[in-house]
Amino acid sequence: MYRHLLQVCFFILGVFTLYQVLSDWFQSVLHNKKSKINVDMFSSWFGVFYMLLFIFSTQATVIGKSISWEFMNFQLIALVFCAYFLDIRIRYYIFFPIVLTYMIFNSSLGYWESWCHAATLISFYWSLNHVQRLKVNMHPFLRYITVGTIYGGLLWFFVTIKFSLQVSTFLEGWFYLVIFEILLYSYIAMLRRDSKLKKQLKKFANHDALTKTENYAAYESKIARLFNSNVHNKLDVSMMMFDIDHFKKVNDTYGHLAGDRVLQHTVDVVQTVIDENDPSVKLYRTGGEEFNVVFPGYDLNSTRSIVEEIFVALNNLSVNVDGEDVSISISIGVSTVSKKDITPDDFYNRVDGNLYRSKKSGRMKITAA
Ligand code: GH3
Ligand code: MG
Ligand code: MG
Repeated sequence: MYRHLLQVCFFILGVFTLYQVLSDWFQSVLHNKKSKINVDMFSSWFGVFYMLLFIFSTQATVIGKSISWEFMNFQLIALVFCAYFLDIRIRYYIFFPIVLTYMIFNSSLGYWESWCHAATLISFYWSLNHVQRLKVNMHPFLRYITVGTIYGGLLWFFVTIKFSLQVSTFLEGWFYLVIFEILLYSYIAMLRRDSKLKKQLKKFANHDALTKTENYAAYESKIARLFNSNVHNKLDVSMMMFDIDHFKKVNDTYGHLAGDRVLQHTVDVVQTVIDENDPSVKLYRTGGEEFNVVFPGYDLNSTRSIVEEIFVALNNLSVNVDGEDVSISISIGVSTVSKKDITPDDFYNRVDGNLYRSKKSGRMKITAA
């Protein structure tokens, strides 16, 4: 009995690990492709599909046999997963046909016990949906396991009558189910914590902690992709780079914290201008007080209005830090990818060179070439 329990436990853990790995993979693919599909919704429905496949394929191996209840606990665990952990609401007009299909598939339409079993199954599902959303102070695990134990007992009761099982088999099946439910609860909590941590780490790696904007690493992968599109699909790509003038003085006069606040405001202002014009334009903090704005699909001329709007907005920016107004000015370099550029760095260097010219010619200037 102990060996069997252990095997089943590992089997269930494997099924859920595979789900989590596949779901994380789909999510990252969708994210990278900037797909419009709602990622959470997608992975939930993927979960339902995955579990249905699991339920029907395990059942296919025991249909018509005297032990056709053998996989019941697996199937119940899959159902608990969809109802409680994925929190999928299934309407009755979808639910009834699924259960009916299962009963036909299982040749159990002629048994009253199977009908009772089906009705209990549906109310089990809805109860799990319900307790998942209850906003009372009772411990969520206690609610979950209470519902799981009561319905599990009822479902095993109908199977026991239908197949004239022994009381010991009934108790064993029910006991196993409760163990699996506990295992599922703790394992899913662990997997989710792990997957959340991975997402946070990814976000940290691509974002700047101070201004919350994307950082140099994010810029590098974006520009590499766009450069590729330029070479293969003739997509115009332009870029503006700006650097705050005499920023060292801001730090020296008002302190580093004030400097930090100015950087945060700078990002907010530029992002507002971008959002009002074209959200496909992207801002990156590529250095301490240096920023790059990437324009996919823009030639030099079409960047002009947004570049000038950013220039004017920042040169008129005044940040109030502890009662003192701190103002800044910026210098800008702009350019567009040309046929002569062999790598993204060639392009970057030209933009940087233009910025340098703006600095050399007295700062608070735009050089576009
Ligand atoms: P220029 O007009 O030539 O750009 O002069 P600058 O003073 O802006 O240039 P410099 O490169 O000499 O100094 C950049 C300063 O930016 C120095 C550094 O302390 C400051 N800086 C870089 N990152 C941060 C940051 O995250 N917070 C603060 N407060 N200051 C920063
Ligand atoms: Mg500077
Ligand atoms: Mg600088």
